[in-house]
Amino acid sequence: MIRMKKSMINLAVGLTMMVAGSSAWADIPKYVFFFLGDGMSSAQIQATEAYLTTINGGSATKAADLLKSENRLNMCKMPIQGMQTTYDAHALMTDSASAGTAFSCGIKTMSGVIGMDETMTIPYKSVAELAFEKGKKVGIVSSVSLDHATPASYYANVTNRGYMNKIATQLTETGYDFFGGGGLASPVGPARSGDTGNNIWNLLSTQGYSVVKDRDSMMALKSKPKEKVVCINPWLQDSAAMPYAIDRPNSNLSLKEMTEVAISCLKKGNSKRCNNGFFLMVEGGKIDWACHANDAMATIGDMIDFDEAVGAALDFYKKHPNDTLIVVTGDHETGGMSVGHATTGYSAYYDRILGQTNSFTYFGQNVWPAHKAAYSAGYNWSLSNNLESNSAMLNVMKSEFGLIWSELNAHQKEKLEDAYDKSMCGTNNNGSDENKLLYGGYEPIIVTITHILNENASIGWTSYSHTGVPVPVYAIGASSRIFSGFYDNTDIAKKLAKAMNIRQSLPVKK
Ligand SMILES: [Zn+2]
Repeated sequence: MIRMKKSMINLAVGLTMMVAGSSAWADIPKYVFFFLGDGMSSAQIQATEAYLTTINGGSATKAADLLKSENRLNMCKMPIQGMQTTYDAHALMTDSASAGTAFSCGIKTMSGVIGMDETMTIPYKSVAELAFEKGKKVGIVSSVSLDHATPASYYANVTNRGYMNKIATQLTETGYDFFGGGGLASPVGPARSGDTGNNIWNLLSTQGYSVVKDRDSMMALKSKPKEKVVCINPWLQDSAAMPYAIDRPNSNLSLKEMTEVAISCLKKGNSKRCNNGFFLMVEGGKIDWACHANDAMATIGDMIDFDEAVGAALDFYKKHPNDTLIVVTGDHETGGMSVGHATTGYSAYYDRILGQTNSFTYFGQNVWPAHKAAYSAGYNWSLSNNLESNSAMLNVMKSEFGLIWSELNAHQKEKLEDAYDKSMCGTNNNGSDENKLLYGGYEPIIVTITHILNENASIGWTSYSHTGVPVPVYAIGASSRIFSGFYDNTDIAKKLAKAMNIRQSLPVKK
């Protein structure tokens, strides 16, 4: 009997080992990456692959070219795919705060609320906090400010995402090992009424964090990692965010480099928690901002930057294939981006956007103000050819966007003339509803330039806000199979918790 029992045990152990050996993806991952493309859904992904196909010498209208490996994004090559809903408790179109709360805490809430329920009375723990309590190291990376809605969803509980000083105060109290990317939106005073007014730099220091702000010091962390470090990109272009990838000078870090620094700081070190692995959240936050502004080239640049950061995690995965899980998704679509446009039908011309050299933001900050100042005196909006007769502006449109006036149709010229009038002196022939539809609160001439440039390439936009389409999920590695299927965005948090063997069932009250 005893002998038989022993042989049965041996058989059971052998089978378990066989299963584990043949199916590493069912294992509990030690290292967990969650990549979040803000505003990223299928259109942003397909447009980026069409762009890559074009710049790599192929045609965005040929399947054989589109399918070549070098034209596919890293995320699209992952073996597991899923799809998630994006709506929140009271809106078909979520915002990043309620979406972040869904996939960090596992609950639906109201737009604008972070880490709390829809009554704004009960705070919940995020999957990052639960991983930290379980002894894992935790890192948060974002190309926008570290107190912005998505990163904040992993450590803060606030009734209003606009309380950015309160959010940053909570950041300093996390104990998390790494923060990196943009800076802080309101580090020395309240962001708005109702917010706290703490000096965050002092609080970070008190809590034992070191703040690193230059490229060489940050890159040095790859070989000499630190614990409790906050890495802030040298240039913060707008709202304490890293610059768009297409505007980035060499002295700045890419999202991939920031991710590599984070990986080093989380993987190595003296703390006992290094043995327990890590949870790292990386957000490509300005994909969303570029889509709000309907700028396809800025969107695609940040999509590639985000996907290259995914590549850094895949490099790590190749070294630790049995211990690593990588999940990539978006929180919602932004801009109602379409792959195809009414004016181009079934054709695509991605070569037509290649002449754009900088983002709408860079143009708005560095080129447009000087032009406006030089030509606004005595401007008469009632003339019909203000733009056509201004060779300086036509040259700027050509050099900055590759838009050639003589190649535009009459309707496009009329739209540009109206937008130019509106931008130069605040007045044009349009009614207010028409202006709202055409410009959405953005600088009329700039958003009209990107609209026309994008539609010529076959890229359309239907909104300046978020839209309600479901978003794809991609995964690879240990436990990745649980991310296949069509599920709710709150299930992302629950699946991540399950993958990390977190015993509490989400949502977990604080
Ligand atoms: Zn947004």
